[in-house]
Amino acid sequence: MKLYNTMSRSIEEFVPIENGKVSMYCCGPTVYNYAHIGNLRTYIFEDLLHRTLQRAGYSVTHVMNITDVGHLTGDGDDGEDKMEKSARETGRSVWDIAKFYTDAFFSDEKDLNIIRPGIVCRATDHIQDMIALIKRLEEGGHTYTSGGNVYFSIDSIDDYGKLARLNLDDLKSGARIVVDSNKKNPKDFVLWFTNSKFKDQAMMWDSPWGRGYPGWHIECSAMSMKYLGEHFDIHCGGIDAIPVHHTNEIAQSEAATGHTWVNYWCHGEFLLNDSGKMSKSSGEFLTLSVLKDKGYDALDYRYFCLTGHYRSQLKFSYEALDHARSARRSLVDKVSELKREAAAPSAAPGEKAKGYMDAFDSAMENDLSSPQALSQLWLMLKEDIPAADKLAAIYHMDTILGLRLDEVEAAGSERIGGEDEERLLEERTAAKKAKDYKRADEIRAELLERGFIVRDTPAGPILERRV
Ligand code: AMP
Ligand code: ZN
Repeated sequence: MKLYNTMSRSIEEFVPIENGKVSMYCCGPTVYNYAHIGNLRTYIFEDLLHRTLQRAGYSVTHVMNITDVGHLTGDGDDGEDKMEKSARETGRSVWDIAKFYTDAFFSDEKDLNIIRPGIVCRATDHIQDMIALIKRLEEGGHTYTSGGNVYFSIDSIDDYGKLARLNLDDLKSGARIVVDSNKKNPKDFVLWFTNSKFKDQAMMWDSPWGRGYPGWHIECSAMSMKYLGEHFDIHCGGIDAIPVHHTNEIAQSEAATGHTWVNYWCHGEFLLNDSGKMSKSSGEFLTLSVLKDKGYDALDYRYFCLTGHYRSQLKFSYEALDHARSARRSLVDKVSELKREAAAPSAAPGEKAKGYMDAFDSAMENDLSSPQALSQLWLMLKEDIPAADKLAAIYHMDTILGLRLDEVEAAGSERIGGEDEERLLEERTAAKKAKDYKRADEIRAELLERGFIVRDTPAGPILERRV
C-alpha cells in the first residue's frame, strides 16, 4: 500500500507500527451547522482509505472526534465560539445544537455509505483528558498564562511548523499582525480559555487554571492518544488543517511525549464551487439534503467524488453531478442485468475477471487512485466475461467503492411502488407523449414526495426507491 505523506511531501510505502494493524485518527465535524458537501468529500476520502486498508488485510482502528466545544470562527484563537454563536442565533441551547447536527452528520454518513469509524468521541466527554494533557505540557515548560488564558509557547520547541514547512523567520519579521496581545509569539495558541468573551458562555468546566473551556486543537491530541496511544499510524483531515490545526496538534503532542506522534499525514483536497473553496462562511453552501431534494441520490455524490483523486481539487457543478448520476445509474442497470443472467456471483472468478480485480486493488493501493480503479470496473464490464464472474468482480470492487451494488435488484424481478404509483407513472408517460411537460414534471415531483425517483431507461420509465 502506497500513501502520500504530507510530512515528507512524497508517496511512501505504508508500513504500520504494529504488523497487520492500522491506527487512524480523522478530525471530525464541528457540529454547529450541517456538513457541506465539501466537508463530506473529506469523509468520503477517509472512508476510501479505511476500506482500502481493510482490503489490504489490515485490521483498522478508526477514531473520529466530534467537535462540540472550543472551535472559534477564526483559526488564530480569534472570533467567537462556533457553537455558542449558533446557539445564540437560533435561540437553542449549545447542547441541543450539538445533538441536532451530530445526528444530521451521522445521517449523511449513512446515506453516503460511509463506514462509521469504530470510535466516535465527543470533545465534551473528554475535558479531563485535555486538562491532563495541558498539565503535562505545563510541567514540561511549554505553556504560559496570560490574560486569563493558558497558551502553548511555540518557542519552547525547535521544530514548530514542520508539517506545513512554515518559515518562522518570515513570521517573526512582522508580516503578521498579532491578533491577541497576550501572545508572546503570534503563532502561540490557546490550550485553555478562562477569559470568555461571553459572560453567559454555556459550556464551561473547572480546571487548575480556572473555570473555562479548551482551545480547539487540544481535543484531537488528547482523544487520539487516549484511543490510539502516543504513537500511531495515520492522521487525516482536509488540507486546510495543515497550517494551523494539524501544526498545533503536532506541536503539543510531541512536546508532551518527546517523540514522533504520527507516521503518515494524509490530507484531502478541496471541493470547489464557482466562488472557490466551498466553505460554511462564504459562497454557496450546499448540503446533501439540498442535493437529495433536487432528486439526486446520495450515492450520485459519492460516485462524483470517486471520479476525482482525493489529492486533486474537485470542481462541483450540477452538470458534473448529472454525469455522475447517469454513470452510476447505468452501472446499476448493468448490475441488474447481470443479476438476471447469473443467479449468484462465482465463488472463484476466472483469469480475466481476476485480472481486473487485481488491477482495481492495485489502483486503490497506489495512493487511493479511485479514477483509475473506476476505469477498471468499466473496462471489465465491456469484456466478454461470464456474468457470474463479472458479478463477483463487481462485488469485490464495490466493497471499496461503496455504491451498494450488491443491493441492486435483478432486472424485471420486482415492481417497485404500489398501484397508485404505477398509475402516476402511466399518467406521466401519457403526459410526455402529449408534450405536456409541465404535468409530467408535476407527477415526477409528486412521486418524489412519495419516496420514489422516476428513471427513464431505454425500456421505459421505472421507479427507484429514494434512499
Ligand atoms: P469542519 O466541520 O469545518 O471542522 O470541517 C470538517 C472537515 O472538512 C475538515 O477536515 C476540513 O478540512 C474539511 N473541509 C472543509 N472545507 C472543505 C472543502 N471545501 N472541501 C473538502 N474538505 C473540506
Ligand atoms: Zn483535529
